[in-house]
Amino acid sequence: MSEEIHQCPLCGSSHIIKEFKRIQDYAVSQESFTIDQCQNCDLIFTNPRPEKQDIAPYYEFEEYYSHSDGGDDLVSKIYQGVKARNIRSKLKDLEFLHGAPGKWLDYGCGTAELINQGKMAGWEVSGIEPNSNAFSLANTKLPGQIFQTLDDCSETSFDIISLYHVLEHIHDIRETIKELLNKLKSRGHLIIAVPNPLSPDSNKYQDQWAGWDVPRHLYHFPSSTMEEFGKIFSLDLIRIQPMLFDSFYVSLLSESYQNPNQSNISKYLSAFYSGLWSNIKASSDSNFEHSSNIYYFRKP
Ligand SMILES: [Zn+2]
Repeated sequence: MSEEIHQCPLCGSSHIIKEFKRIQDYAVSQESFTIDQCQNCDLIFTNPRPEKQDIAPYYEFEEYYSHSDGGDDLVSKIYQGVKARNIRSKLKDLEFLHGAPGKWLDYGCGTAELINQGKMAGWEVSGIEPNSNAFSLANTKLPGQIFQTLDDCSETSFDIISLYHVLEHIHDIRETIKELLNKLKSRGHLIIAVPNPLSPDSNKYQDQWAGWDVPRHLYHFPSSTMEEFGKIFSLDLIRIQPMLFDSFYVSLLSESYQNPNQSNISKYLSAFYSGLWSNIKASSDSNFEHSSNIYYFRKP
């Protein structure tokens, strides 16, 4: 079943631009979904959207890399290589933010590769992962430290709570963020990474931009929305950092959607060029933003 939304899921405004876009699910169902935009906070969201209990079939495809530990094809290898580098850079950022390792909750931890490395670096880690397959893999690495729901996790007083490419998947976004903030220490950091529909790669690939990823991505966040997010939850936005590798990966997927019959070599070259161009354009042209950003918030 699908549900129709009449108020912005983030700010609650009823000033909505209807049918802002219509986007196809290229990865799984091939169905089309309507996307609306909130006039108050600029949030872009799928509407109507599959209900929480009915969205699982849209996640059933082999290439949902973040829920497995990887395949053998070149795209998986590139993805895994980028992921390893991203892990190192995320851990560096966390240490920079917090100084010595502390208590860290990763919400939507996937197969727990990130927090597993975090644990080796001295962090006291917990992870939440609703997907059963990913949960099992994560739980093998970190038994007793992974939970399927936030309610199952009795730990509180985290120094860091992170959501890397997760916020866009959460149906009850306001309730979840409120519950997470209850578990965050005062002066603790909330870290959120999300794709950005104002990026040059989104503008290039238009409806075939892989960042839309409907209906799995329920929302899309321009940076103005994330600034509003900070105000809604009384958080200080202290830093925004671009994720420079995401433009390449999103471009590669978008190339497959836009031109499925092109040769692999042509696809990789086009994606490389597009990713590079996207990063340069986002850095130099104030009309655009980076393909994905990490937003660092601090609880007062
Ligand atoms: Zn809104």
